[in-house]
Amino acid sequence: MSDLRLSNQGDRVGPAKTAPEPQPRVTLVRDGQRVNHAKNAEGFLAAPQHQKMHDKRLWDLRQKRDGQMHQIPEWEELRELASAIKEHTLAHLDEYLVQFERNARANGVHVHWAKDAEEHNRIVHGILRYHGAKSLVKSKSMLTDECGFREYMAQVGIEIVETDLGERIQQLDDEEPSHIVVPAVHKLATDVAKVFAEKLGSDPNDADIYHLAETQRDTTRPKILSADAGMTGCNFAVAETGGITVCTNEGNADLSMNVPKLHIASVGIEKVIPKIEHLGVFVRMLSRSAVGSPITQYTSHVRGPREGGQMHIVLVDNGRSARLKEEQFWRSLKCIRCGACMNTCPVYRRSGGLSYGATYSGPIGLIIDPTINRHKYSELPFASSLNGSCTNVCPVKINIHEQIAAWRKVMAENHELPFAKKAAMQAAGALLAQPALYRTAIATADAALNTLPRFAVYNSLNAWGKGRENPHAPRKTFHAWYKKTRGRK
Ligand code: SF4
Repeated sequence: MSDLRLSNQGDRVGPAKTAPEPQPRVTLVRDGQRVNHAKNAEGFLAAPQHQKMHDKRLWDLRQKRDGQMHQIPEWEELRELASAIKEHTLAHLDEYLVQFERNARANGVHVHWAKDAEEHNRIVHGILRYHGAKSLVKSKSMLTDECGFREYMAQVGIEIVETDLGERIQQLDDEEPSHIVVPAVHKLATDVAKVFAEKLGSDPNDADIYHLAETQRDTTRPKILSADAGMTGCNFAVAETGGITVCTNEGNADLSMNVPKLHIASVGIEKVIPKIEHLGVFVRMLSRSAVGSPITQYTSHVRGPREGGQMHIVLVDNGRSARLKEEQFWRSLKCIRCGACMNTCPVYRRSGGLSYGATYSGPIGLIIDPTINRHKYSELPFASSLNGSCTNVCPVKINIHEQIAAWRKVMAENHELPFAKKAAMQAAGALLAQPALYRTAIATADAALNTLPRFAVYNSLNAWGKGRENPHAPRKTFHAWYKKTRGRK
């Protein structure tokens, strides 16, 4: 699902009166290196205009989601049903995929299977080459981002134009999406004005959101009309009919799939659902969970090629069947990419999506990313307070915070903890194993908390002190209180 979210920059704004805060940037790490989420987040945390806007905007979406949820008395039953349908489908995934393929072929669609990102890119390139296509318009698809599709196509000389507003902003700015539904949500309107001025020649001082949207429309429409091929992702693939459903708020996917004669859809194998009647469950929950609206502006059902055209579906595995075998993490495949877990997460809202250094950010990213590259994303499962809010809002009832905790254990068992964390955990383990020593240490720490000079905690060597205040130590420990009031009974 994709969503027009320039309006997330706040109210309509005219020319900036004061110098706008520059957009904080994250330096991506090379393969083989660990992503340091805390370090990456420093720039965003130090940019108050961006940080405040981001936090507020996403919390807004969370509240709108709550409002929609309260209007549906059977919401919890819907969640149960959605979860059960997904779990059943995943348990019989092979059968439903074969059924989907058979019915899609019967509808006149060419179906391909890609075991990984590289094969996906090669297949799509092969289709484009066969048709002599040199330009491709594309609607937002996290799967193609996961496959590094744009980079691949740039190397083989095929021009790709993203048609989703947020995704186009990110493409022009050479950044990954920072959110799975609202890709440019971390940008102020002034940031977008700067990008459009540099790449599209518009007025850098005009940060009016309507003018920016017009610039996008004026510069993208001609490319859609003249493109050789169109590409979309897919929200749901219905085994019973062989059709796919694509949900957007801008109608850009409909243009991408209907204007050019050649339509290619990239579909993750976990997107399949058994029957058309199941769509009602998911469509009712997707937009409500994502942006707090009852339905997306466009919910398009496609079964075959347009008249005189050709349609291809590429079914992509890219690690999904391996994850399906993982007892602790297979339920993450139920995800319908609504982004609700990101909107509610206090860490995500404050740190911004790019600080995760991965295609998927926020709570669901903490589970998916280590399945893609365990070492590179080994620190990500620690970017969570484990408060469980993500699990509570998830429309398909993924036990997100439990899976994050499970990943921490896996990282510790596989010696993937950074040195400082490992040393701290070992010290805590030794302390907790000796009750008498622990009590003495706690009593000393309480006294120290009240008397320590600030620089002892708030210095450049102590990451904990950044953005946190020490709690006030209680006058008495719980243990001392218990001993005094209950201990003698
Ligand atoms: S894990 Fe759940 S809440 Fe998060 S994006 Fe997926 S479906 Fe939405």
